[in-house]
Amino acid sequence: MTATADTFVPTTLDCRLYAQGLYIGGQWRPGRGIPVVNPSDGSILAEVPDASVAESLTAVDAAAKAAPAWRNTPPRRRSEILRRCYELMTARAEELATLISLENGKALPDARGEVAYAAEFFRWNSEEAVRIGGEFRTAPAGTNRILVEQQPIGIAVLITPWNFPAAMATRKIAPALAAGCTVILKPASETPLTAYALAALYAEAGVPAGVVNVITTTQPGPVTSALLADPRVRKLSFTGSTPVGRVLLAEAAKSVISCSMELGGNAPFVVFDDADLEAALDGALVAKMRNAGEACTAANRFIVQSGIHDAFVSGLVKRMAAIKVGPGTDPATGCGPMITRKAVDKIERLVADAVTRGAQVQLGGTRPAGPGFYYPPTVLTGVSPQSEMKHEEIFGPVAPVYRFDTEEQAVVLANDTEYGLAAYVFTRDLKRGLAVAGRIEAGMVGLNRGLVSDPAAPFGGVKQSGLGREGGVHGILEYLEAKYIATSF
Ligand code: NAP
Repeated sequence: MTATADTFVPTTLDCRLYAQGLYIGGQWRPGRGIPVVNPSDGSILAEVPDASVAESLTAVDAAAKAAPAWRNTPPRRRSEILRRCYELMTARAEELATLISLENGKALPDARGEVAYAAEFFRWNSEEAVRIGGEFRTAPAGTNRILVEQQPIGIAVLITPWNFPAAMATRKIAPALAAGCTVILKPASETPLTAYALAALYAEAGVPAGVVNVITTTQPGPVTSALLADPRVRKLSFTGSTPVGRVLLAEAAKSVISCSMELGGNAPFVVFDDADLEAALDGALVAKMRNAGEACTAANRFIVQSGIHDAFVSGLVKRMAAIKVGPGTDPATGCGPMITRKAVDKIERLVADAVTRGAQVQLGGTRPAGPGFYYPPTVLTGVSPQSEMKHEEIFGPVAPVYRFDTEEQAVVLANDTEYGLAAYVFTRDLKRGLAVAGRIEAGMVGLNRGLVSDPAAPFGGVKQSGLGREGGVHGILEYLEAKYIATSF
């Protein structure tokens, strides 16, 4: 199906078409066992296979078989194939956006944004594939030359979460393929259909059999342990929660496997008195409501200076109140359902805890009756620093507002977390903005911007938000290893 937003909006898709089986060595291996639920109404969209440990290990065989030819494929050819992936994703943007919206629940505009972002990793890395550098210099002793080339690290295991079913996968697959690696992707059980839809697209773009393998399983722990224990696997790239990341780091340590970890966040959104109020509100809506708050970069704590606090709160309430809650595929929807009932339970618990500790509900705060896993846009003020939501990812459309007076207080509050992924600062004073951005312990800072994600920029966190970077010129380095050849001639 080829369509653009202007020409055709498929309102329903037969999701079973994307559940052909495990994708291993270029073949579909039919199976069942994992129902994929539509969070808008709780219905079952399709069922994908539940791979055993033994079946999962055949994906390593396939990746190993494809590896020599792929690493020896000329970079220009790899680049052209990646470019074709970008073109096919772009041509099928509407179909993919609808699929993402159905299995994840996010509103169609968010899903369209995700497809564009996800496709861009292929375009960017098609350009990186032909620019992998090296070094050549004289050793200080003058006795020999130092020759350094970058080699593909080897077979990579990629594990992704449900909140960006396309982009979290392509952010790993595109640089891995550009570097010359073959991969095994294990998408989240809630949203596997997009990963399988993309697997078919890669094959059509010319990605050889075995270069990308996709498996789904209800036993992610044992399967991942078995994959990492196979000596042919040399890389683990994980995006997901910090607790699971910790487990996987320990597991990877047993085989001394290179790890990239994109983990949880607790982003502060700092607004100074001198901020452009409208710009801060625009940024707040993006940072809070993109994906209905289900983003690792989502603003989790609004930290607002006293002089602008009330105006900011009333503007935020007005804007959040105007967002329509509904099924992701309804064109009027701005805030789709949460991924699961459990996710709504967690948000409800965090809001109840904050209210018990004195928070005032300015908007929302009450879970609607089913069906579907909905939670309304919610604004809380007077939130106690002891509240659980100050320390935990809310992962939903809830905006807690904290007040501060001095710049020092803002920095201390912003850094009072074990996480360090994204942060946002709004001020008209560029000198102060850069100084505060420099002091906030985060891998990424949006200065007068509510969106930091960009395939051309290094995405990643500090502290317990992760290790390594995805995107920009940094992303491909995670899949390359320096080979030094001491050369005499
Ligand atoms: P999650 O529970 O950690 O799951 C992520 C992935 O890990 C899923 O594919 C899951 O498989 C798998 N998994 C779970 N337990 C595992 C185990 N013991 N061994 C191996 N794999 C295992 O996270 P999530 O709820 O899907 O995603 C939300 C989290 O991701 C949030 O914390 C968010 O901040 C983070 N995130 C971070 C970034 C970033 O770039 N830093 C981006 C997006 C999301 P199953 O689905 O089968 O359980």
